[in-house]
Amino acid sequence: MKKTVLVSGGAGFIGSHVTVELVQAGYDVVIADNMSNCDDTNYRGVCSILGRELPFIKMDFCDGDAVNELFAKYRIDAVIHFAAFKAVGESVDEPLKYYRNNLLSFLNVLEAARSQGGCNVLFSSSATVYGEPEELPVTEKSPRQPATSPYGDTKQMCEDFLRDCVRAYPGVKGIALRYFNPIGAHPSALIGELPRGVPNNLVPFITQTAIGRRECLSIFGNDYPTEDGTCKRDYIDIVDLAKAHVCAVTRMVEGRMKEDYEIFNVGTGRPVSVLELVNAFEKVNGLKLNYKIAPRRPGDVVAIWADPSLANEELGWKAERSVEETLAAAWAWEKHLAGK
Ligand code: UDP
Repeated sequence: MKKTVLVSGGAGFIGSHVTVELVQAGYDVVIADNMSNCDDTNYRGVCSILGRELPFIKMDFCDGDAVNELFAKYRIDAVIHFAAFKAVGESVDEPLKYYRNNLLSFLNVLEAARSQGGCNVLFSSSATVYGEPEELPVTEKSPRQPATSPYGDTKQMCEDFLRDCVRAYPGVKGIALRYFNPIGAHPSALIGELPRGVPNNLVPFITQTAIGRRECLSIFGNDYPTEDGTCKRDYIDIVDLAKAHVCAVTRMVEGRMKEDYEIFNVGTGRPVSVLELVNAFEKVNGLKLNYKIAPRRPGDVVAIWADPSLANEELGWKAERSVEETLAAAWAWEKHLAGK
């Protein structure tokens, strides 16, 4: 019998890729999204890739009654919670907006999981919980550092909500996946990242500069203590990242968890500097990017990358795509959006 996975925020960048991989792995998926930060481009893309419509519910997870009704209507075996605001800078200016949305929506998921007598809950967390790590690469045992933004705070708090609910309520089980830097797009170029306004993240800024929507990429700082002076990150392909969710959901629904609450890093283990990424983008796509060195961006950590061995061993998952393949997919998606 097919298992049903509820994907909150399923019309977004990560949610849409995870939906595709779940359906292709044999799960039934119910997508719920309030469309507050996206249009229906990715939902339509998901349906084209899969060749059929999926159940889609337009709803706000801050509405507790609506979340309970959803759980009552569909027999939900697992829920993956993506629905959240994600702009770090905006969260500093509007903390209440972030706390209200990101915390309340997850509390409602947990409440619904508890009321139906248990559920498998997968929370989408972030490497941001590690702050500026003292030792690299970071393992799941590396200490969490005090968050430097309300956004980062909501990730830490939601991890704790999940841990405490798993401990208190029978049948509630949880996995938190800590993502490093998800980039790229589906190889079909039918789904991808759709930033609103000026992109905050590096890869959308690169692709928009390459297509001519932005004049020049600013590289934030080349005086960091790294080989080429630019920051290092662990860029993880979005399809690889999506597959980690399938492995985590399967581990939960098949009852293979070792603890009722588990945490996994989802990264490649491969550090790449901003300049290396820009050079790789130019090379693989055969173009020159207009860029300049700009001052450091406040709040950036110098370097962070994952030790993904726990996910490799326990989830049986490994990042497979090279950074070049991923950057080619990101560029194909940008061109698809531009109708080229
Ligand atoms: N970055 C940059 N120019 C940009 C956007 C980002 O140089 O327009 C750098 C940023 O300083 C960081 C890296 O790219 O070192 C990744 O930033 P991003 O915002 O994509 O992810 P973060 O690691 O901050 O979550």
